[in-house]
Amino acid sequence: GLSQVNGPLKPRYVRVNTLKMDVDSAVQELVKLYKVEKDETVPDLLVMPPGSHLHAHHLVKNGRIFLQGKGSAMVAAALQPEPSWEVIDACSAPGNKTINLAALMKGQGKIIACELNEERVKRLEQTIKLSGATNIEVFHGDFLGLNPEDPSFAKVRAILLDPSCSGSGTITDRLDHLLPSHSADNKNYDSMRLHKLAVFQKKALAHALSFPQVERVVYSTCSIHQIENEDVVSSVLPLASSLGFELATPFPQWQRRGLPVLAGSEHLLRMDPEEDKEGFFIALFTKTTSKLEDSN
Ligand code: SAM
Repeated sequence: GLSQVNGPLKPRYVRVNTLKMDVDSAVQELVKLYKVEKDETVPDLLVMPPGSHLHAHHLVKNGRIFLQGKGSAMVAAALQPEPSWEVIDACSAPGNKTINLAALMKGQGKIIACELNEERVKRLEQTIKLSGATNIEVFHGDFLGLNPEDPSFAKVRAILLDPSCSGSGTITDRLDHLLPSHSADNKNYDSMRLHKLAVFQKKALAHALSFPQVERVVYSTCSIHQIENEDVVSSVLPLASSLGFELATPFPQWQRRGLPVLAGSEHLLRMDPEEDKEGFFIALFTKTTSKLEDSN
């Protein structure tokens, strides 16, 4: 398929599951097969040559490493949850970012992994099992249906929101647009689909910001479209600031930031399909609490 034509250009990223194995041991094992480097941006992430064949590798099969793109691995890292925290992963299946959170939290604290789709809940549970994480509670249901005032969420300090998106940042999806079958009808369909996705994304982000004890919210998509990215952030800014949130800068050393269509776009993070071999978007909201002891 189209992805095979372009696939070889894309480096292979591997996240070491530090719940099961340390990074240096993983490097020692993988370097027997391929060149391995530590990623310069994301801790616990390894970069290997394009085309590295790892799907059947024993470290993958036993959950010591996970094949996870760089953009994906930046999301949980941007959220920076403390090990003792309670965290919600709002749209969690198949669970790559959920188990990434679990590793960053050293298997401590609690993660509530919410997923609407029943089939995908099964995949989420398989991923969690493979990771060895024991601090994840799966909730099968609608994130929008969770009541922020419910006492069971009173200790939630951070939310990761990676909602359904167009996937336009992935290679196969982008090449679809070059196919002759991409007619005016398809374009109409695409813009309606994008609009529907954006409506949900805005609702879900506003909902995430409304949990009373939450002080960090990360929003991500694998889309290149402004309507799913900067526009979603723009739409919640008044609410966010009324609740005491501001935009923070995930990975400040990263060059590519948001499209300059809103005040604060320099805080947003973009990955570029050409430069970075994938399209990705991350926004981070933080609330400065009055709890001074937290800043130590
Ligand atoms: N974060 C996941 C990962 O890294 O493995 C990928 C998440 S995927 C982009 C979005 C997920 O959100 C899908 O599994 C979809 O079924 C789920 N979803 C969509 N609407 C939802 C809702 N209202 N509540 C909870 N989950 C929802």
